[in-house]
Parts: sequence; C-alpha cells; structure tokens
Amino acid sequence: MKKYKGYLIDLDGTLYRGNEIIPEAVEFIASLDQMGLRYLFLTNNSSQTPAQVAKRLQKFGFPAREDQVYTSALATAAYLKDTLGSPSVFVIGEEGLKKAIIEANCLMTEQNPEAVVVGIDREFSYEKMKKACLFIRQGAQFIGTNPDKALPTEEGLLPGAGSLIQAIAMATGVNPKIIGKPESIIIHYALKALGTTSGETLIVGDNLETDILAGVKAKIDTLLVLSGVTTMDIANQSEIKPKYQVVTLREWKL
Ligand SMILES: [Mg+2]
Repeated sequence: MKKYKGYLIDLDGTLYRGNEIIPEAVEFIASLDQMGLRYLFLTNNSSQTPAQVAKRLQKFGFPAREDQVYTSALATAAYLKDTLGSPSVFVIGEEGLKKAIIEANCLMTEQNPEAVVVGIDREFSYEKMKKACLFIRQGAQFIGTNPDKALPTEEGLLPGAGSLIQAIAMATGVNPKIIGKPESIIIHYALKALGTTSGETLIVGDNLETDILAGVKAKIDTLLVLSGVTTMDIANQSEIKPKYQVVTLREWKL
C-alpha cells in the first residue's frame, strides 16, 4: 500500500452510523494524529457550519477542530469566489451555506442575482422556488451544493438537497452546476484547503456512488470501508471500483 500524506474522510457510515460510533474509526483518527498526517472531514451536508459539524464529531469522541471540517457549503462559496468573483447570490439554504457565502464576500440578494445557489433548506417553499426559477430564466447561474436525493433520519429517508435542486431544474429546463460529491469540484477545493496534492491524498468513504466516484472523477486514490451503506455484495457487483477496500478501518495501515 502506498503511503499518503493527506486524507479526505467521509462522516456518516465511515466515522459513525446514525447515532452509533464506529470504534475502528476513532482509532484510525487517533493514528492519523499520532503520525502527524493531515486530514479533513468531508461532508456533502451544507446546512451546518464547520464549527457545528466539529461539535457533533466531538460528541462522538473525535477530537475534531472547526478547521478540519470541509463542507459542500465551503466548496460552493470557494467556487463562487473563484469563477464569478464573489457575485451577488440568491440562496436557498440553511445557516452553513449562508455563512460560507457571506464569508466569501458574496452579496446575498433577492434582486437580480448573478447566481442562484440551492442547498438543503427545511423551509423550502413555492415562493423561494418561484424566485429561483425567475432568476435562472433571467440568466443567473444555477448552482447546487450537492445531489443527495434523500437524507437518512430516524423518521426514515427525507428529501435531500438534490430533490430541491431537481425541482428547480425541472421547472426551468436548466441543469445546475453541482459542487458536492460525486463531483470533483469539492475535492479540488478540499485539497486546496488541506494543502496536499491529488497524488498524495486518499479519499475514504462508505459510499461508492458519492465518495468513491468523487475520488475517481478527481483522479485521487480511493478507500472504500464497508462500515456503512455498501456491503461486500454491492461492492463486488458495482462498476465503480475503489483502489482499496477494507471491512473496517482497523485493517488500514498508515
Ligand atoms: Mg457516508
């Protein structure tokens, strides 16, 4: 196995499952710290700020700092700044997304925005959707934080950001630019934040269609861990192939 300097690590299914911690993941993170290796916790969820995600990880027993969390909201904000020079933006989303966009010096507006950004918004409404559609039809760039169709919760699978984004895509006939996994844009900006190159970095996750596909698209090496949504059978049958595969992170030698 190759030695990697940097790790991009998925959260749910990799570090914990629902409310249940994965002990091998705690050992894995402790080993990364002991070896002085760099890593980021990489999440498609745009609703929470890095500080809120770090706090949740700390409750599970991971010594996570705010600056070790990288969200699709941060990547979306970095993309806006890079490609459109901190444009005016109409945002459908929650605190994590709004804070990231403001910190990237973008102006949040409900009038003639240059871009429309859509993430998970549990106060999504016809009114918000109507505004987004009108702005996109007027030429605003349409950007989606992440394509997740559904969110696993104790109530069951609830509509995710992808389903809200698709409602607007359907209504306008315009395809959004998607930032989060499995797209490579989030990986590109996460590597920038981590300060390692694509060749030095490994992405670790439990989902072939998001984590592993993102790594494949971004041309970085991938490690699938079977502690979450992917069983051995699913992995064997899938056309998406990780570079490495382990049952638990205890098997991984740093
Ligand atoms: Mg996962």
